Amino acid sequence: MSHLFYQGRGRKPVLEQARGVYMWDREGNRYLDGSSGAMVCNIGHSNENVLTAMRRQMEKSTFGYRLHFETEASERLAAKLAGLMPAGLSKVFFVSGGSEAVESALKLARQHALATGQDSRWKVISRTPSYHGCTLGALAVTDYDPLSRPFAPMMREMPKIPAPRAYLDGLDPDDPETGRHYADMLAAKIEAEGPETVLAFIVEPVGGASTGALVPPAGYMERLREICDHYGILLIMDEVMTGAGRTGAFLGCAHWGARPDIVVMSKGLGAGYVPLGAMIADERLVEPVLDAGGFAHGFTYAGNPLACAAGLAVVEEIESQGLCANAARMGEKLKARLQALMQRHELIGDVRGKGLLLAFEFMADRTTKAPLPRALNAHDRFVRIAYERGLIVYSRRTRDGIEGDHILVCPPLIVNDTHLDEIMEGLDASLAQFTAEIRP
Ligand code: PLP
Repeated sequence: MSHLFYQGRGRKPVLEQARGVYMWDREGNRYLDGSSGAMVCNIGHSNENVLTAMRRQMEKSTFGYRLHFETEASERLAAKLAGLMPAGLSKVFFVSGGSEAVESALKLARQHALATGQDSRWKVISRTPSYHGCTLGALAVTDYDPLSRPFAPMMREMPKIPAPRAYLDGLDPDDPETGRHYADMLAAKIEAEGPETVLAFIVEPVGGASTGALVPPAGYMERLREICDHYGILLIMDEVMTGAGRTGAFLGCAHWGARPDIVVMSKGLGAGYVPLGAMIADERLVEPVLDAGGFAHGFTYAGNPLACAAGLAVVEEIESQGLCANAARMGEKLKARLQALMQRHELIGDVRGKGLLLAFEFMADRTTKAPLPRALNAHDRFVRIAYERGLIVYSRRTRDGIEGDHILVCPPLIVNDTHLDEIMEGLDASLAQFTAEIRP
């Protein structure tokens, strides 16, 4: 009997070892990690330079409480991250994961409003569907029914606007009018809520698990910034999944030259070596909060030296191996191959994404864009079939009529052509089996 429990009862194979893009269970079965865990292991498993940096740090210290000590590791990682951010984002607050980073951003935004005499501002608008974490604050700005519904009475749900879904709405994603159309929904929502009550807007540059790698239409990001500036609200960029090179740039929002007020990162920053997240804020936000008595928020493990030493080594690997460029290059190839796969498998209705944050979506009918019936549980079934063939991919279904079943294909950024061949063989065979099972 196991004493562990997570979301369900199902038992999984026991992980024995992981190297590069591969993982082995205790029975000796090999898996290609085609989703980098949950889009986490950006530099691959067991990178020797990261392990060495961790060993070195462990010899020095593994903990220094943030109210007692700074550490060289946290100072160096903060400086490194500040150098990779858009201008002005130079203040770094470390945490241990994505939800904690999002909570921290919401609270900093609110405290900035209080420190600057804008007490009436507290609403944080987000999108539907979206996923920003599972703590109650992060969940309040999340729209993912299965995780949020049970807790509705315990939190103050925040206003939402639709995420751009040009492919379902029949709009041209390359036309800036499309971006303007969706972004203007934010302006309308702010007006409806009362501009003086709105604090911030939180958005993923490329929608991750919630929308299945949905890339925003032309003009969207630029227009969001204009709207935020117009109403004096803060733009929080959730780079938990897109950051650390995943989309082919260190930050996903860099593709559009976006200027967020706060960036939150996690997943690829610790890259599976350590629990690590960061909120990086514009100094203009932080200074008034510190002047007004300090940031009333913090976690015991914040700035843990072992986590920061590993995070620094991860970022150095991303830079020294040119992994952003590799993600862009291999992402183009993989996307083209997924598009080719769509020609052969009629259940694939859409292929999308940027860099190595890629997805395909199942549809019952490409013309009407009807999703597969929910009862088929297609995303889970497909993931299981691929898993049994030794290929790990990630999936989600949000809700009928809004999103169908999408499968995220997001291998570590170190993938080469041979790995892509293997991923494609696994997907092709799994799709054939999946189609035979649901359309015998
Ligand atoms: N934000 C985004 C965009 C995410 O994808 C996730 C996790 O999937 C989170 C926040 C929450 O991160 P964590 O699971 O590390 O708390």
